[in-house]
Amino acid sequence: MAEQLTYTSAIELDKKDSLAPFRNEFYLNNSNIYLDGNSLGLLSKRAEKTLLTLLESWKTFGIDGWTEGDHPWFYLSESLGEQIAPLVGAKAEEVIVTGSTTTNLHQLVATFYNPSEGRTKILADELNFPSDIYALQSQIKQKGLDFHEHLIEVKSRDGHTLDEKDIIAAMTEDIALILLPSILYRSGQIVDMKRLTQEAHKRNIIIGFDLCHSIGSIPHELSEWGVDFAFWCNYKHLNGGPGAVGGLYVNEKHFGISPGLAGWFSSSKEKQFDMEHILSPAHDAGAFQIGTPHVLSVAPLIGSLELFSEAGIENIRNKSLQLTRFMKDLIEQEIGDAHFIFRNPDEDHRRGGHLYIEHPEAARICKALKDKGVIPDFRSPNGIRLAPVALYNSFEDVWNSVQILKEIMENQTYKNYENKRGVIA
Ligand SMILES: *Cc1c(COP(=O)(O)O)cnc(C)c1O
Repeated sequence: MAEQLTYTSAIELDKKDSLAPFRNEFYLNNSNIYLDGNSLGLLSKRAEKTLLTLLESWKTFGIDGWTEGDHPWFYLSESLGEQIAPLVGAKAEEVIVTGSTTTNLHQLVATFYNPSEGRTKILADELNFPSDIYALQSQIKQKGLDFHEHLIEVKSRDGHTLDEKDIIAAMTEDIALILLPSILYRSGQIVDMKRLTQEAHKRNIIIGFDLCHSIGSIPHELSEWGVDFAFWCNYKHLNGGPGAVGGLYVNEKHFGISPGLAGWFSSSKEKQFDMEHILSPAHDAGAFQIGTPHVLSVAPLIGSLELFSEAGIENIRNKSLQLTRFMKDLIEQEIGDAHFIFRNPDEDHRRGGHLYIEHPEAARICKALKDKGVIPDFRSPNGIRLAPVALYNSFEDVWNSVQILKEIMENQTYKNYENKRGVIA
């Protein structure tokens, strides 16, 4: 390592940080250092305000809240789609805020997976989040096929990352659809979405991405890359609150296609209240909504997204890279002999917004960290995720949390805890 990192280096980095003022926009618990914003982002004052505003519109307008007030509920999913579009690099009409990660996956796969003679399989990967895999298995079953045969999971060479070459090699003639994560939830690897989309399209395969770990953390250019569809949750880096409504993107070249799972909110807005029994789907991403939007679960997002547009996703990404680099270097400098193994790709263009380190005692190390006020994220059986988040974490947070980790390792205080995960881990 080039230079010795010190507490002063952390403070200097904070002084130079143009995003530092955003920390005051959030509710931070001063006795904690929160490093779990990639699982559940923190509440901001703006998000709280817009939630209260929408409660107020219910109080004031009753049913007329659908069309009255500052954020008429009937148009909210579309207006939030427009607010999110820059974060995924899409046109406003290509994005809608609706559903959840898993239900949006169901919707999009039900729409775009049309097994035909010879092309019957879905290509995914063996490192993906279980919910995505369960959903794909059930979608295959819905088509009357056996998922053991029709769901192909690309293998990882090292158990932590995916090699794009292996994914491309698996794009064979029998693949109808590909679904991959943008960033792997464990190792934090950024998958090369642009290259994989090009390769899929050369072979006439539809490709979509799960953006849960990348939205609000890194920039995307979905439209430019020609990605067919994508979906995500809004409660991780986007700080939309527990159970926040999710989002999806469909490339405009697919506009006009019928939604696989239809409902009256799939309608074009002008036709919806004609109450006809033949659906006239919206001519944009709105067609992939199903039922009435969960207004109170979407309300915090209105305020939260303002912060992202003010901060700028490029600035967020730059700071996030600096934070994860600083944290990794610091762990190596301070506790290099504690046998932590970094599983993230090291290169900036492949490293997402969190660090993932492994240690045989990970479960009890996480418990010891929590007792000392550092909030990490344990992933069974031996992984620790640490996410210093650009909008509310500081370099001083990173310094302090690494010092606490150092003390736990040196004094072996983690041995006071059981090496077993909790119900939520
Ligand atoms: C967080 C996450 C989910 C969660 O799905 P929900 O439907 O929001 O519960 C799914 N997939 C991935 C990759 C995730 O990171």
